[in-house]
Amino acid sequence: MRTQVGIVGAGPAGLLLAQLLQLQGVQSVVLEARDRDYVQRRVRAGVLEHGTVETFREAGVGVRMDAEGLAHDGTILRFGLQSHRIDFRELTGRSIVVYGQQEVVKDLIAARLDVGGELLFEVADVTLHDLDTARPRIDFVHEGVARSVECDFVIGADGFHGVSRGYLAGARTYERSYPFAWLGILAEAPPSSHELIYARHRNGFALHSMRSPTITRMYLQVRADEDISGWPDDRIWAELHTRLADDAGFTLTEGTLLDKGITPMRSFVCDRMQQGRLFIAGDAAHIVLPTGAKGMNLAVADVRLLSRALGGYYADHRTDLLDGYTELALRRVWRATHFSWWMTAMLHVSPHDDAFGDQLSLAQLDYVASSRAMATSLAENYTGLPYPKGWSY
Ligand SMILES: Cc1cc2nc3c(=O)[nH]c(=O)nc-3n(C[C@H](O)[C@H](O)[C@H](O)COP(=O)(O)OP(=O)(O)OC[C@H]3O[C@@H](n4cnc5c(N)ncnc54)[C@H](O)[C@@H]3O)c2cc1C
Repeated sequence: MRTQVGIVGAGPAGLLLAQLLQLQGVQSVVLEARDRDYVQRRVRAGVLEHGTVETFREAGVGVRMDAEGLAHDGTILRFGLQSHRIDFRELTGRSIVVYGQQEVVKDLIAARLDVGGELLFEVADVTLHDLDTARPRIDFVHEGVARSVECDFVIGADGFHGVSRGYLAGARTYERSYPFAWLGILAEAPPSSHELIYARHRNGFALHSMRSPTITRMYLQVRADEDISGWPDDRIWAELHTRLADDAGFTLTEGTLLDKGITPMRSFVCDRMQQGRLFIAGDAAHIVLPTGAKGMNLAVADVRLLSRALGGYYADHRTDLLDGYTELALRRVWRATHFSWWMTAMLHVSPHDDAFGDQLSLAQLDYVASSRAMATSLAENYTGLPYPKGWSY
């Protein structure tokens, strides 16, 4: 096979890039290790920043998101049994949309197949070759047959456990792991609050979120080495009731659990996102703590930059945008990494913290709840800082 851009991975990053390139008349081939059903069912992120929403609309995949997504103008911080609303719209003029990542992936796959774009599922043994030449190549196995795709550029959008990052020789990585994890559930129950609730309780953090008017998504802070078998449904509900309680009589609606799992808490940044004709994007290059809801949004931001840089290359033979990709992308990545770390530190109970540390977290929460300047800082980071000039594709 021969194409202009070879993309490894059909997550939000790889699929969106293929779509944005298609709109600019640039051909691509997308190679995905899993089957279509699996990637369309993978329950992950759900909070779309203002800029992510705009990007999906511009990419022509916003119709279902606009019809079914839940627009939120604010969020609730809950601590000491009290609720404090952060009004995104009033503070920043921006808002977020709650729309599940699996729905985004479904929309992007449908758009890709609609235009007859190449998208191969269940590929295996992906290896990259000749990345420092003008004719890089991806080798892989599909339906038992060894195949190759020759291209001008290779994009590694294959997530944290993908192979692409390994081809960046000598890249420095920054990493931090945390002494707790998130136990996430998806429940067949109408949300108990119109907006997300970020709660800090002495037992630990809890998040009340949603995916639709009938599906609730919730998380509990648990030990880093926690085994899911120690959390039968009754225990999960009891702990959610305890941690989400307030003094205004908040009631949590229960329902059948559709999914539950434990996600480790990790921050990871690779300081180089390109080498020769290889560029990496999204989780392949960075992982952020989920507390700031930035993972998928950063993947979208990387891809906006890359699609513009590749578009500039094909339209005007420009290479400056490609050369500057890592530097521009990493500025936003580190901002999001800091914001996610800050939200996490403020809202979680660290087993390493003493009573002094607890008081510091509560003082920080109180400051955010009572200071317009701090609330605005949270709101502008949460809804997503505007893309700097020149990020449009
Ligand atoms: C359990 C979990 C929960 C999360 N919850 C949230 C959340 O609540 N909020 C939030 O903002 N973010 C969350 N995230 C993060 C968010 O989902 C990611 O940031 C987002 O998926 C990044 O998109 P991506 O396309 O870069 O990578 P991915 O979505 O990981 O996609 C990479 C794709 O590459 C494929 N692939 C991997 N290796 C190969 C290979 N060798 N060959 C071909 N294909 C390959 C994978 O199968 C996958 O489809 C969560 C992540 C996880 C794991």
